Amino acid sequence: MAQQDTEQQHAGVLPVDDEGFVVDVEDCEEREAAYRERGTARPITVVGNPVLHKECRDVTEFDAELAKLVDDMFASQRAAEGVGLAANQIGVDLKVFVYDCPDDNGVRHVGVVCNPVVEELPAADRSLDDSGEGCLSVPTAYAPLARPDYAVVTGRDERGNPIRVRGTGYFARCLQHETDHLYGYLYIDRLSKRERKDALRQMEEGTPRYETVPNA
Ligand SMILES: [Zn+2]
Repeated sequence: MAQQDTEQQHAGVLPVDDEGFVVDVEDCEEREAAYRERGTARPITVVGNPVLHKECRDVTEFDAELAKLVDDMFASQRAAEGVGLAANQIGVDLKVFVYDCPDDNGVRHVGVVCNPVVEELPAADRSLDDSGEGCLSVPTAYAPLARPDYAVVTGRDERGNPIRVRGTGYFARCLQHETDHLYGYLYIDRLSKRERKDALRQMEEGTPRYETVPNA
C-alpha cells in the first residue's frame, strides 16, 4: 500500500501509453472544467506586446504558483474560445502552454506542457498541411500556413514529470504554434511579407470577441 502511494505521488498527471506518450484524450470535459473553474480569465496580449516577441523563461519551480497559472490559462483559453494558449499570451514570461484541441480524427486532447521542445522529424516522414491558422494574439486574422501534419513535443507536466505529447492534423499544428509562442514567435512571423501584412490588416479591421491587453 505504502509503495503504491509513493508511486502515485511521483506519477505523472496523465497516464502514459505503451509508446511513452501521455494519454490526453480521457475525461477531457472533467479535467478541463476542473482547471478552468479554479482559474480566473485574464485579458490576452496581442502582437506588438514585448512579452510575445522574446523567448520565455524555463519553468524551474513546479509549485502552487505554477498550478494557479495553469488554472488561469485554462480559464482564459475558454473565455477567448481558443484551442491552445501560451503563458505569454496572458502576459506571463514562462514556458508553459495549455491545449484543448481536436486532432485529425476529431478526438479532443486536453493537457499542459512546460518547457516544450518540438522533436525534429526525419524529412521522409514529414508531410505538410497548408490549412488555415489563427492566433488569439492576432485577433480576427487567419492565413494558410504549411506545417507538418504530425508533431511530437517533449517537456514536463505541471508537476515536473517528463512527458511526450504527439498530435496529428489541427492538434499537430496547435503543438507547434504554442511552442513557437514560448520562443517568441507568432505564426505571422512564418508568413511571407505580403501575407503577414494582410493578416495585420485583417486584425486592424476586426473586433476581438474577448478582452485584450492594449499595447503601450
Ligand atoms: Zn497563438
